[in-house]
Amino acid sequence: MSALPTAHNDDTIVSLATPSGRGALSVVRLSGPLSFSLAKRLAPGLVLSRSRSLASLFKEGRLLDRALLLLFPSPHSFTGEETVEFHLHGNPLLVDELLEALLSLGARPALPGEFTYRAFLNGKLDLLQAEAVDSIVRALSLRELRAAFQQSEGLLSKRLDSLREDLLACAARVEARMEFPEDPGLFQTPLPLDPLKGVLQAAEEILRASPLLAPEAESLEVVLLGRTNVGKSSLLNALLLKERALVSDLPGTTRDYLSERILVKSRPITLYDTAGLDPSESRPLEKEGMAKTLGLLEGNKLLLFVVDASLPPSPQDREIFSSLSDRRVVLILNKSDLGRAFSDEEAERLFPGTIGTVSLSAKKGTNLPLLRDLLERELLLCSPEREEELFLNRRQRFCLQSLSLSLRKAIAFAEEDAGEEFVAEELRSALSSLDRLTGRAGTENLLEELFSSFCVGK
Ligand code: GDP
Repeated sequence: MSALPTAHNDDTIVSLATPSGRGALSVVRLSGPLSFSLAKRLAPGLVLSRSRSLASLFKEGRLLDRALLLLFPSPHSFTGEETVEFHLHGNPLLVDELLEALLSLGARPALPGEFTYRAFLNGKLDLLQAEAVDSIVRALSLRELRAAFQQSEGLLSKRLDSLREDLLACAARVEARMEFPEDPGLFQTPLPLDPLKGVLQAAEEILRASPLLAPEAESLEVVLLGRTNVGKSSLLNALLLKERALVSDLPGTTRDYLSERILVKSRPITLYDTAGLDPSESRPLEKEGMAKTLGLLEGNKLLLFVVDASLPPSPQDREIFSSLSDRRVVLILNKSDLGRAFSDEEAERLFPGTIGTVSLSAKKGTNLPLLRDLLERELLLCSPEREEELFLNRRQRFCLQSLSLSLRKAIAFAEEDAGEEFVAEELRSALSSLDRLTGRAGTENLLEELFSSFCVGK
């Protein structure tokens, strides 16, 4: 993915902001210094002092569309730059025509995340809010959506700003004591630690408000089941990234069950690999294994029903599946590397009512991240909902954890009277973690990487 051209922020950028395809409307967004003048070139009747106009757009003298144009003068736009939104009729041909016309007049296609990046550069959003914009678009549950929206409104940013003030005041005091060791006024009282402890407590509360990290959140239990030889043990191994379950070509090697824990977003998931189910089985040992498997299904577990998708579905698969009717089941179409004997649609028809289908190859590792994502969502669902939630991403958690670590050290040094310079050093690194979190300080590389993972048009 191309890097964001920090050196070309004077360009006027354009992109489709709505999904491509047919619909009632398509919105094209144009941002940068030429926006108004380019809009006027296409819509000569446009009155630039009006914030919205219904205008006729022309291309090479021919009427293109009657569209609603929204005009946002700088700095009163999402990006902070002059911006025009074209609300066209929703036909991709029209969109292409308009984009082509704007490009030929000097605009350039926006890179992924470039609108939000500009909003960030122009101080309209901090990094947390920018990431929240992305989370709003990506959220798959109302719960995530609510949290992302609060974050985009600056809920977390405001709290962090006030923490920063407290932290800065303490740091300034320590630095002053080092700078002016002979000033008795600065040393009359010991360094007040309460504000620092307050910041530490607040940072840790923020970490705890992330449902995936909440200590009271329940763990998720996941059972792998299906006929023998469909690849249950291989899938367990693939998820564990080590050889724990014994994999064999001979059907029926897992006669008992195994349980293992994996961490998804720092929260444990218990995985059970079970004896293969064969409804026609009559041998005593195998029957006992199956009885144990069925016993495991008690309770509120998530079931991964594994089938070998390289072979036509067998009546046993269907029989096992129908006995799971009221359970939360994910259908795993394994061995997809060997080719598929039936399509996703057929699978959904044969195995209806699952909460998801993942086609993967346990052997090759293909599509395992999709399964991990699904497990992560299930984890969220089994943690209790709170009034105020934050869905911290890995980067945000890392910054907060470094912040809290530095604060702990600073407080310990101060309590031990270890010397001002030790305290000062930790406070500096705490501040830097906080500034990296909000994007006040951040290397260009980090920013480029973050924004380029956004969708185009954002
Ligand atoms: P289980 O009885 O359901 O636990 O199945 P195993 O994990 O023991 O796998 C049975 C056989 O299928 C072994 O030979 C595996 O190597 C093979 N196998 C498992 N997953 C895959 C896969 O995704 N692709 C291919 N080609 N072979 C697989």
